[in-house]
Amino acid sequence: MRLEGKVAVVTGASRGIGRAIALGYAREGAGLLLVARSDSDLAEAAREAQAVGARAEIAVADVRDEAQVEAAVEAAVAAFGQVDILVNAAGIPMVAPSTELPLKDWRRCIETNLTGTFLSARAAARRMIVSGRGGRIINIGSLQSFDGFPMRVAYGASKGGVVQLTKALAVEWAPQGVHVNCIAPGFIHTAITDRLIAQGVLDIEPIVRRTPARRMGHVEDVVGPAIFLATAEADFVVGATLLVDGGYSANGWYE
Ligand code: NAP
Repeated sequence: MRLEGKVAVVTGASRGIGRAIALGYAREGAGLLLVARSDSDLAEAAREAQAVGARAEIAVADVRDEAQVEAAVEAAVAAFGQVDILVNAAGIPMVAPSTELPLKDWRRCIETNLTGTFLSARAAARRMIVSGRGGRIINIGSLQSFDGFPMRVAYGASKGGVVQLTKALAVEWAPQGVHVNCIAPGFIHTAITDRLIAQGVLDIEPIVRRTPARRMGHVEDVVGPAIFLATAEADFVVGATLLVDGGYSANGWYE
């Protein structure tokens, strides 16, 4: 087991990509503190992790709230005595014509995806640095960290920010043993993409056609890269963003 003796805090662990990563870490022997806003979904995710033999605790917290984030990370330290890994998977989409996007929705998206990532990283890194053990922080970007997608200005700005935040924190904290990296998933089948498809603002067919792997991603596709970035095998990977998109971004051809 590659993460035996490690403790991971995973935000956005109640569903989708965060939940799959948490379960993957559970299978690799990590102790888990699962964070999201929904108590019942978190409890279900914790039971799933416990079923594969992991110790899993939950903390209900909104990543936009500084005090709640601090309390969640402190709960991990109280329960396990340490924090070795943080995965920042909490996030929301935001789709609207930019001329109509209300300021409150812009703020909600930036505060969840970008500020929430910063607050969680800051809270975890403080403990990782003081412990002298260092740690790993894995942020979740997107294809929209790099390219513009129409009607998604707040989301794109937030995810572009996550890649830049990854580099800035990596450069600052790597000398103290805290390695910050990012995973940029392509189109992954989750509740987010299901909702966007149902709303008619995401058309999967041309995406699959452009993707050399000829399919949408599954949450499990992100788990292996997230385990890799948490292990000693990634010791010299610092400030990187790993694309996990079936080749979508590499494809310069028309389909
Ligand atoms: P999802 O299934 O909707 O899961 C989102 C998770 O974030 C849930 O656990 C949700 O729990 C949590 N969350 C949302 N707002 C939160 C807040 N303010 N505080 C704490 N937790 C919060 O979405 P997903 O597709 O797995 O997305 C996970 C991450 O991957 C997001 O950052 C997303 O932008 C990114 N991503 C997804 C795709 C894709 O195609 N699916 C592609 C690229 C990047 P609660 O609602 O209970 O709080």
